[in-house]
Amino acid sequence: MNIIRLGPPGAGKGTQARHLVDARGMVQLSTGDMLREAKDSGTEMGKVVAEIMARGELVTDEIVIGLIREKLETVNGNGFIFDGFPRTLGQADALGSLLAEEGQSLDAVIEMEVDDDALVQRITARSTCANCGEVYNDITKPVPADGKCTACGGTEFKRRADDNEDSLKTRLMEYYKKTSPLIGYYYAKDMLTKVDGLGEIGEVQQAISKALDN
Ligand code: ADP
Repeated sequence: MNIIRLGPPGAGKGTQARHLVDARGMVQLSTGDMLREAKDSGTEMGKVVAEIMARGELVTDEIVIGLIREKLETVNGNGFIFDGFPRTLGQADALGSLLAEEGQSLDAVIEMEVDDDALVQRITARSTCANCGEVYNDITKPVPADGKCTACGGTEFKRRADDNEDSLKTRLMEYYKKTSPLIGYYYAKDMLTKVDGLGEIGEVQQAISKALDN
């Protein structure tokens, strides 16, 4: 089974993907994570994308489609969860073609609905474990007082360069201008399920599982 999760920055796509990976053996393909890896690797492409990402703008379709193509050709798993991809109609068309080339199809698109004010609060308070990626929030899920990650015991935590209010406004604008048309695109293909992304983490998990098992 291959699924897409759509939603604005901060909708909880990363948190929920971890659950699907653990519970169903699916493979998460997050273009945001791939681009951050490219950035850290110091390659020419990494340097180009670093600035675009820090501003909160979208990287070109050509680059992200190339990254996804490479993964689809080399990674096997019990289905893919596409996170933060596709983000434009061009990427959506490309994904359809890439999956068809691999003899695969797309089974579901889950839209995570979250109120915009909540996004700002979530994102500006967000940090992650540098070792395992467990997500924390200064207000709703602070790093434990002993300074150790609850998932892996790691003691280093980091914040993303684009998790500040200015970049977030640009990310939101990019989302509404370029990505939100995908909601209509997949609705018209009868693939869209909407899930309330504001519930407790467990409730959101259940809603997603229900949508996938239907
Ligand atoms: P979030 O969903 O929290 O905004 P992501 O980790 O998915 O974060 O993406 C971070 C940044 O990486 C985006 O703001 C954008 O610059 C770049 N990016 C990620 N995926 C794509 C994509 N599919 N197309 C273009 N740019 C992307």
